[in-house]
Amino acid sequence: MGLPRAHRRPALGRLIVADPLDTGWALRWIRGAAEVLGENRALLIDLDRLIGDADHGENLDRGFSAVVAKLDGTEAPAPPAAVLKLVAMTLMSTVGGAAGPLYGTAFLRAATSLGDAEVVDAEAAAAMVLAARDGIAARGKAEVGDKTMIDAWTPAAESAGAAARAGAPPPGVRAAAANAAHAGAVATEPLIARKGRASYLGERSAGHQDPGAVSTALILQAAASAAGIDTP
Ligand code: ADP
Ligand code: MG
Repeated sequence: MGLPRAHRRPALGRLIVADPLDTGWALRWIRGAAEVLGENRALLIDLDRLIGDADHGENLDRGFSAVVAKLDGTEAPAPPAAVLKLVAMTLMSTVGGAAGPLYGTAFLRAATSLGDAEVVDAEAAAAMVLAARDGIAARGKAEVGDKTMIDAWTPAAESAGAAARAGAPPPGVRAAAANAAHAGAVATEPLIARKGRASYLGERSAGHQDPGAVSTALILQAAASAAGIDTP
């Protein structure tokens, strides 16, 4: 406490509190998301084993590893929307199951909402979360309370919007999204699944967090972290 972040996290050498949400941020976010999804691969597999078919961690790790391989193998895309579009296309072509198309749609809608902006301002930072959420809702038809990733994306979009309207800087908007997604994922635990594979379990789906809501929180936490803000 008390020290500027740059002094507390020198080893990472990249975190500055007022980092603009530019192409560098988008690239740090996606590489960071790949790393954290890799670290949590077993957790996501375990959660999906409890209420699904135990492949969610494998699916996302494979998809984001493919994204990183593409980033390593080509000239870095720019602006931020191009980074997100590469993610969308790669996830759609490499991740099967429910999550691939849903996350693919989310990243594609987020990219579209950014247009050709070089730097994402607070309003756009909130709008891209809402666009992603709306894309997932349009594709998967889940509502809040159905125990899906929508239960993380919806509060994330609401909190990001509220933070932007209250005058938060762009990293603060990302932090609001991440915190709300985390709380939303935790809150899926007692719910009974009404969409996706977990719904086949009926009442037996209660008592475990939804894997897609947890991976959503991890991905949105990586976005905040790439902007210099650590969230739970
Ligand atoms: P699959 O269910 O095909 O094995 P994954 O295991 O990769 O695919 O993803 C499961 C996650 O997908 C769930 O935890 C849930 O969050 C999400 N999901 C499934 N169906 C829907 C839907 N209709 N709308 C939103 N999210 C969904
Ligand atoms: Mg699964």
